Amino acid sequence: MTDTDRRTFVTGAALAASVAAAAPAVAQGSEGAAAPTTPAAARYPKPPFPVQRQPWPGLASKMDPRPDHGETSYKGSGRLAGKRALITGGDSGIGRAAAIAYAREGADVAINYLPAEEPDAREVVALIRAEGRKAVAIPGDLRDERFCRRLVAQAADQLGGLDILVNNAARQQTRPTIADISSQDFDDTMKTNVYAPFWLTKAALERMGPGAVIVNTSSEQAGDPSKDIVDYAMTRAAVLNFTKGMAKQLASRGIRVNAVAPGPFWTPLQVSGGATPEKQRVFGQSSPAGRYPRPARRDRRPLHRRRRSLAQLFDRPDLRVDRG
Ligand code: NAD
Ligand code: MG
Repeated sequence: MTDTDRRTFVTGAALAASVAAAAPAVAQGSEGAAAPTTPAAARYPKPPFPVQRQPWPGLASKMDPRPDHGETSYKGSGRLAGKRALITGGDSGIGRAAAIAYAREGADVAINYLPAEEPDAREVVALIRAEGRKAVAIPGDLRDERFCRRLVAQAADQLGGLDILVNNAARQQTRPTIADISSQDFDDTMKTNVYAPFWLTKAALERMGPGAVIVNTSSEQAGDPSKDIVDYAMTRAAVLNFTKGMAKQLASRGIRVNAVAPGPFWTPLQVSGGATPEKQRVFGQSSPAGRYPRPARRDRRPLHRRRRSLAQLFDRPDLRVDRG
């Protein structure tokens, strides 16, 4: 099965896992059955989608079809009431889905994004505020260590503290061979995907106490890399490894560290250099449902149950999400 075989249109499964990872650890029920197909699922967009290309970092608002981040479907239940979260890459894709979900679960949310993503960020801020939660927007480039430190400080100051850090932002640019990956490319990918989570985690820990949570976005690429994104894939493995080590290191402080490892999702990352036109053309086509599964409420509940029970485990803190 290739990495495009299980493309997922929406980010709901990943956000559900992200909420589960951030929520207080509560043992839940059994594994549950696979998500059932609903009548509404028949209306979900099906591939082939129009091949499209945006300049990096891309905007969700300009994608066709537009990704579904749970804007109209996610229902919260107060599981993050009173928490204060910082989410990098919170303007779009998996980060936006997490931001919406966290706000609906009762958290105040700060998002970071690149200045070029301001239109997407504004939509997210409005969605968070619509829930009556505080929204803080802090644009800036995570490849800069000083900015990373400032980001954590500003987020914590404006939220009144910091309980949850979601290291979600990443750079993925497809390159046919290693010869096509310049040192600048490699540096940009490492700085965004590996250094920034390191810097942000270090800064956040100065402000976090018992009960705090760090959630890192990894990928199925960590264990099953595609041939044309090798620099990106190695960063997802690094993040997973970092997660496991930090989970052990921070257990004694009462701070949990988890990683969400999504399969493919339809996000700006894919149309701004992250996937070739050939991959875009067949995006999702050979997924089990022949479409992009979506997080209808009933689809998500088994996932919540499964993932929440896993969220308290420190010895295997990666939550794989590859079925949407
Ligand atoms: P996305 O494009 O919506 O989000 C990535 C975000 O990273 C951007 O919105 C941008 O704000 C941020 N970013 C990139 N470079 C930055 C920089 N230098 N400074 C500040 N912010 C920067 O795409 P997404 O797919 O939602 O990606 C989010 C996470 O999901 C990433 O960690 C990615 O590795 C992971 N992931 C995605 C997929 C997928 O198929 N889309 C699969 C597995 C894992
Ligand atoms: Mg974005």
